[in-house]
Amino acid sequence: MTTTKYIFVTGGVTSSLGKGIIAASLAKLLQAQGYRTTIQKLDPYINVDPGTLNPYEHGECYVTDDGAETDLDLGHYERFLNVPTSQSNNVTTGRIYQSVIDKERRGEFLGKTVQVIPHITDEIKHRVQILGQTGDYDIVITEIGGTVGDIESLPYIEAVRQLKWDLGENNAIVIHLTLVPYLSAAGELKTKPTQHSVKTLMESGVMADVLVCRTEHELPEDLRIKLAKFCNVRQEAVIQSIDASTIYDVPNLMLEQGLDKVVLKKLALESSTPDLTQWNQFLERHKNPTGEVTIGLIGKYVELQDSYKSILEAFIHAGAENEVKVKIESIHSESLTEKSAAKKLKHLDGALVAPGFGERGIEGKIEAVRYVRENNIPFLGICLGMQMAVIEYARNVLKLADANSTEMDENTPNPVIDLMESQKTITDKGGTMRLGAWDCNLVDGSIAEEVYQSSNIQERHRHRYEFNNKYKQQIEEAGMKATGLNPETGLVEIVEIPKHNWFVGVQYHPEYKSTVANPHPLFVAFVKAALNFKIDKNSVSMAQN
Ligand code: GLN
Repeated sequence: MTTTKYIFVTGGVTSSLGKGIIAASLAKLLQAQGYRTTIQKLDPYINVDPGTLNPYEHGECYVTDDGAETDLDLGHYERFLNVPTSQSNNVTTGRIYQSVIDKERRGEFLGKTVQVIPHITDEIKHRVQILGQTGDYDIVITEIGGTVGDIESLPYIEAVRQLKWDLGENNAIVIHLTLVPYLSAAGELKTKPTQHSVKTLMESGVMADVLVCRTEHELPEDLRIKLAKFCNVRQEAVIQSIDASTIYDVPNLMLEQGLDKVVLKKLALESSTPDLTQWNQFLERHKNPTGEVTIGLIGKYVELQDSYKSILEAFIHAGAENEVKVKIESIHSESLTEKSAAKKLKHLDGALVAPGFGERGIEGKIEAVRYVRENNIPFLGICLGMQMAVIEYARNVLKLADANSTEMDENTPNPVIDLMESQKTITDKGGTMRLGAWDCNLVDGSIAEEVYQSSNIQERHRHRYEFNNKYKQQIEEAGMKATGLNPETGLVEIVEIPKHNWFVGVQYHPEYKSTVANPHPLFVAFVKAALNFKIDKNSVSMAQN
């Protein structure tokens, strides 16, 4: 095959319909038929990337190997496809304008008036085709964030219209996702919002090729006929997307509905039966656990599930691998004090102290680390969680008064966590952290080395502060070991307490690399440690009875 084919996924009526999951599920079905597929997300907001957005606004910021701070949908793409994404997979309006304005300043428009059409739309079209032009993909799926009809989506829809025209029939298609609400008082599913949304799309000159209808109830035949008739699509192209108990069911649901077949037919590509063997084995294990472990997730954004999306998904992968259900108990770090720690944490089989920024809730995180360290409860600290583990150890074991991170207290007498040298001259907030994949060497005989089965790994980072190597010797002599180091800079990437049951803190974010096909070894080992801890606990209490 010579040309790359393009699929655009747009959404109407309301956002949060699950466009990302539909795109990822379709991509999975295409990949499982041998098509090299990738997914891209275009976000219509003006921030250059979501890196500076509050997690309450936008959920987790997902980081790629090349250090792009991106939308959390990219996490779904990687988890489903097991293929890394990059900066090219996520573009915002801010980034589009930034490139166009930079070009204008360089004089590249030769005196022309720079306008939304054609300059912004040309830049969008260029960004859409970058992935296709690499030659690495047969199919590129582009998810357009936001809702059709919004002012800010207009240039994207116009770019889609032009691309469909430029690329020609069979090379580019549009999938439109809509809501088919159920009115319980009338006992009826309503098609009007879908009709209106398709009409809005048509006002911009774009015809939907496939409709994916989000619904709580089965779409009956007559309703599909009606939708097809009013929305200019074939009946086979009316696809129902019924609520699922897990997002990992969606590829199979789309397969049952024939979404892959319809799409491939419209792209003039052959379809076959996708090989979902490995996927279904995972689902089988996920849905039939033989036990359960309870893990506390200690963070300050716990009210919003999306803030820790990749961590929660990594636990699903690791749970399936261990054939257990991982029950996550969200614990707000601000609610933890020396007094309340035991009550809130004593029943846990494991505790994860989450990443984060700023001072709020950090004393609670430190209390949580103290409690689990003293009580031998398996612990995984990620990024800020690792830094809290170091501070706790310095304060309570080394007795270093007021040990802290300079992020929280610039004047601490014991800055065991300090701003990285390379960060000291940086004033801009956006895109300036230590980002993306970096090498890490693992110490022989450490938990990390055993878990990874390797002595050199690469993991993704997103931080400004680091373990202060001036305290390394002192901390190691007191029993907390630095077991992962950056080979060039000597930055400490992992700490462990060998005397503890299972205590690991990592400066990087392992959760970003966990996928269905490759559950992250650190999460797998942590869940296993929690399971063993629970078994030991139960046998001790049985022996006591
Ligand atoms: N705030 C800390 C830092 O910048 C930790 C960051 C994080 O948890 N991602 O170093």
